Amino acid sequence: MAILSGLTLNFFLFKYIKQIQLLDMILPFSTCVSTILWFEILLQSTSSLVATYQYAAVIFIVLGNLCVQVHFRPSLISTAMITAAILHGIWRLNTFNEFIIFLFVYVPILLFSIYICWNNTLNSRKNFLRALLDDWNYHTLRKLAHTDELTQLSNRRQFVYAAERRIQATADTESTSLLIFDVDRFKSINDQFGHDVGDQVLCCIAEIARKEMRHNDMLARFGGEEFIVLLPHTSQSDALKIAERLRHKMEQHTIQLDHHALNFSVSIGVSKIEQNQTDLSHLIKHADIALYEAKRQGRNRVIHYNCMDFCS
Ligand code: GH3
Ligand code: MG
Ligand code: MG
Repeated sequence: MAILSGLTLNFFLFKYIKQIQLLDMILPFSTCVSTILWFEILLQSTSSLVATYQYAAVIFIVLGNLCVQVHFRPSLISTAMITAAILHGIWRLNTFNEFIIFLFVYVPILLFSIYICWNNTLNSRKNFLRALLDDWNYHTLRKLAHTDELTQLSNRRQFVYAAERRIQATADTESTSLLIFDVDRFKSINDQFGHDVGDQVLCCIAEIARKEMRHNDMLARFGGEEFIVLLPHTSQSDALKIAERLRHKMEQHTIQLDHHALNFSVSIGVSKIEQNQTDLSHLIKHADIALYEAKRQGRNRVIHYNCMDFCS
């Protein structure tokens, strides 16, 4: 009756307890109690089969070790407890010679069960590590796919994806502005100082722009030496102020090379979402036209698409 109740209790523990570490403690312990009960029954029994039944004790050690799922140490503790209970029972039931014969059967099974348990523990650790690695790979690859390698800003694909969603999610779309800025005469920087210095300039521009942007602004490298920023909740006049501040910061910055102090500038095209055109491509097209106009007017300047008639 006691063993049956123990088995029923274990069944419910398995079914309802989801915490593996707790099961690792409870199940070997209950196996140990079952072992002690088993030997108490054998000690009271007058059956002629007692000598045979006592060999069934090896089942307890196998069960005890198979119950442990995550940690090897609980398995060793339960092995020690169950082994003590078994050897004590066998010692009381048999002569010394029979005890030694039992050990010949018991010890290989004991070692084999410990080996299986060790293997299970290793496999569960491997699976855990593999899941961790898969997760890490997924996030790293995701980041690589969205990030520009040189400047660590978002790349064009990520910008378009995120900006379209931001525009759709912004109720007050009419106050959404966009800047596109392009390095002036960048080809000549490359030609004069080399591609490495050109790359350095791009990283420097990305860094300045990153510092100038507010928390909600979306900055990205749009391609080559062209950068883009979506400015949500920004009026036309504020967008112009931000663009002018950005242009000024770029103009002010000096990169110290071995024998030269290198200065650079950017031209900025600004656009604003119009009433019926909440489309990102329109916003980009207008900012691009304004940028072209800024280049045409001599570079290192800010032009808003909506002011083009007055400015040119
Ligand atoms: P403008 O003032 O009209 O913009 O003239 P620009 O010389 O900047 O424009 P152009 O389009 O003629 O040259 C752009 C140059 O940018 C050409 C290309 O080699 C260079 N470039 C594009 N991507 C990179 C990059 O990742 N690193 C470096 N170092 N150069 C790049
Ligand atoms: Mg350029
Ligand atoms: Mg360009």
